[in-house]
Amino acid sequence: MTVQRVNPFRNGGKEHIELLGGKGAHLAEMTKAGLPVPPGFTITTEVCRHYYSSGCQLPAGLMNEVLHAVAELEREQNRQFGSAERPLLVSVRSGSVTSMPGMMDTVLNLGLNDDTVEGLAQLTNNRRFAYDCYRRFIQMYGSVVCHIESIHFERVLQKEKNLAACADDGQLSEASLARIVQDFKRIFEQKTGNPFPQDVKKQLQKAIEAVFSSWSSPRAKVYRKVHHIPDNQGTAVNVQSMVFGNMGDSSGTGVLFTRDPSTGEHVMFGEYLMNAQGEDVVGGTRTPSPISELEAVMPDVFGELSACARQLELHYKDMQDIEFTIETGKLYLLQTRNAKRNARAALKVAADLVNEGLITKEEALMRIDVQHLNHLLHRSIHADADHAVMAMGLPASPGAACGQVVFDADQADEWKRAGKPVILVRMETTPEDIHGVIAAEGILTLRGGMTSHAAVVARGMGKPCICGCEALMIDEERRLLISGEFAINEGDWLTIDGGSGKVYSGQMELKEADIFPELLLILQWADQIRSLKVLANADSPLDARKAKEFGAEGIGLCRTEHMFLSPSRVPIVQQMILAEKESDRQQALNRLLPMQRCDFEEMFEEMDGCPVTIRLLDPPLHEFLPNVEELTERLTKLRTDGDTAGERMELERMIRRVRELQETNPMLGQRGCRLGIMFPEIYEMQIEAIFKAALRSIQKGITVLPNVMIPLVGHVNELYLLRKLVDHVADQVLGEEIRNCPYKVGTMIEVPRAALTAGEIARSADFFSFGTNDLTQMTFGYSRDDAEGKFLSHYVENKLLPNNPFQVLDTEGVGKLIEMAVIQGRSRNPMLTTSICGEHGGDLESIMFCQRVGLDYISCSPYRLPVTRIAAAQAYIRMQWELQLQEAAV
Ligand code: ADP
Ligand code: MG
Ligand code: MG
Repeated sequence: MTVQRVNPFRNGGKEHIELLGGKGAHLAEMTKAGLPVPPGFTITTEVCRHYYSSGCQLPAGLMNEVLHAVAELEREQNRQFGSAERPLLVSVRSGSVTSMPGMMDTVLNLGLNDDTVEGLAQLTNNRRFAYDCYRRFIQMYGSVVCHIESIHFERVLQKEKNLAACADDGQLSEASLARIVQDFKRIFEQKTGNPFPQDVKKQLQKAIEAVFSSWSSPRAKVYRKVHHIPDNQGTAVNVQSMVFGNMGDSSGTGVLFTRDPSTGEHVMFGEYLMNAQGEDVVGGTRTPSPISELEAVMPDVFGELSACARQLELHYKDMQDIEFTIETGKLYLLQTRNAKRNARAALKVAADLVNEGLITKEEALMRIDVQHLNHLLHRSIHADADHAVMAMGLPASPGAACGQVVFDADQADEWKRAGKPVILVRMETTPEDIHGVIAAEGILTLRGGMTSHAAVVARGMGKPCICGCEALMIDEERRLLISGEFAINEGDWLTIDGGSGKVYSGQMELKEADIFPELLLILQWADQIRSLKVLANADSPLDARKAKEFGAEGIGLCRTEHMFLSPSRVPIVQQMILAEKESDRQQALNRLLPMQRCDFEEMFEEMDGCPVTIRLLDPPLHEFLPNVEELTERLTKLRTDGDTAGERMELERMIRRVRELQETNPMLGQRGCRLGIMFPEIYEMQIEAIFKAALRSIQKGITVLPNVMIPLVGHVNELYLLRKLVDHVADQVLGEEIRNCPYKVGTMIEVPRAALTAGEIARSADFFSFGTNDLTQMTFGYSRDDAEGKFLSHYVENKLLPNNPFQVLDTEGVGKLIEMAVIQGRSRNPMLTTSICGEHGGDLESIMFCQRVGLDYISCSPYRLPVTRIAAAQAYIRMQWELQLQEAAV
């Protein structure tokens, strides 16, 4: 069946949505299904595109086709367009392909003029009704077609209501309405310089053009930008015979959701108004009644409406949002679409539809918006709480938090112990702030990007965090946080939303995240379906426990540097770094070893039977030391306050050492395996701790699967050397027990050279883990913090880049490296396990890519696990569907 450019509702259906728009396609679909839809026709989106490409002109001959279609409506309805005898009235309705609620325009009651209004009055024997329609029409036509501000009409309406002492339009008398019509026509003439058009064909053409024009109204443009709707999609126009909800007390209009859109509960939800038309329900001038009350008022209509709701759900296999009108006791449907719903309702509806046998588990999973779901898994600001935004920063870690402002980590720790919830506000955080981060409900930094220390740590802990909030200032002296006119004292309340980046002054009501039965059920389905394994990035036994709880099948990345950062360990780590003599360094390492062993042991126990991937120390050593400025300040203070020579010497030594370790470009400096090669005793200690922990766990009857991961390898020789070290230490520590400890040694692939020589590297590696953050940085040659703070948003806005490559994996460049490395690696080492452990592990498109390339698993932060499990199932289903399509095409 082909669709004509002026296409009657009885032709076409939902498969023609691109041409007919959502409204038109579903009106056709409902007509075909025998539902009570007033007849009409759709002018396609093709015509809209033509309209714009020809300087806002309708194509030649189009109006003739339209009038032809109108003539058909006349026959069907036994009415005449523009005749005073039995006048036909129509609505002219916009209808885009992607639903854009309220963004475009509609005109109702078109076809009325000074003659036809009298005809309508006679025909219906209801003059009040006829004038009610006419005044509505003049106002809508005036504002939609001629852009007269509604306020002019509203004023007149209000004046008449005051005169008649009535609260709503429905009570206005025939005489009032006739006066309103006169005033409206006068306003129309004043504003446009022309009398109100009496030629109904002219009215129709102007209204069609106006609806096409509303596609490029400022609000429609903004909406499209926000929702990524292409500008050339265009809108269709629907011309439909009017039915009247404003014909008296047995008429009305309303909106119905087939289920509750905020809870997903399977009960009809909606509102209606008697003796009303069109937008009155949403207009807010009268208070509508809940749909359940219709049952008592008009039991038959209610019964019919329930039956239609059921039929439509069965037809679309989804929850619907339906517009209906009752004209003197008869029900008409005017629109249906898949209903918008909140994240929680979405899960419940999807699960219920499977249980009701309407859709498959796969279909249910595919309907879940993972972005949406992500918000559900964190605390959020209570929906009713509206508050002025004080500042905006980067949304670095989702969830809302509320607490009293503190400006340093020690204070945060102290207040937390005293039972006060705190928000830690820092210029930027350093590893030394970790105890403050742990104590805080949320973290706000004025500098730094999405991968700054604060952001990474906060995400790992599932704590809300906003970074790079540059509009704020800290006045250290007066202990104030300043933003324009706001000044917040230390101890004042602050609320942050790490999902949106918004900062609010004051204490706002928060809502807990809830893990409810439908989510668990859907996660179970996702686990049955997906082929990608999902592991967690976890840096502590606590994280490991969380990870297990959220369904991790192991640990894909344990960043051991985070174990060096707790306040009790930092001094020992510093001592180790500052050591000038080998023996001093060894002494410090000897103190660190049991601490690390203890952590690993707990993690092995937590992950009994699952792999635990431990990455050896990665960041440059100076990151564990305070910065030079801070040290110099301390030194000056020490000098003026009087000091002991010992303290001063120690400080001076530290400054010297920091200077020595300082690098021009630390990201590309002595870090990762380079550090391990230059200071082998550090890696040796870590490896020893791993295997000692493994040994103790084995002795307790635990199944351990340790994976030792070497970071930042760029040349096979680096891995070869360090692998020998791992094997040697394992051998020494485990002895006989080595049989019970099937450990693996592998590497991160995060330097482009490693990807390019993956075949070589795979000979020394049991696994590859793509560290996509670093790999993206090095492939693009961007430092993420600088890029995100400076040029990257400009690039994305100006379409130089399709996305931020740190959020959505760049499949064309970085992805090519990954794909190549997987193929080459596997060809040299068929047993090679491959995975991704960057932040991309939480993004749907990136997960899709991992599925296509055939990676074995994804590793992501524990709090993202539920989302990732669902996304992995979606990736699998999508791949299956694509394969089926390909097969069908052959
Ligand atoms: P929107 O897309 O903004 O909802 P619509 O085209 O759906 O705009 O129309 C606005 C209102 O007018 C809706 O309440 C709709 O039900 C009503 N309406 C549209 N066409 C008709 C008609 N032919 N008869 C009666 N009411 C109509
Ligand atoms: Mg509508
Ligand atoms: Mg890295």
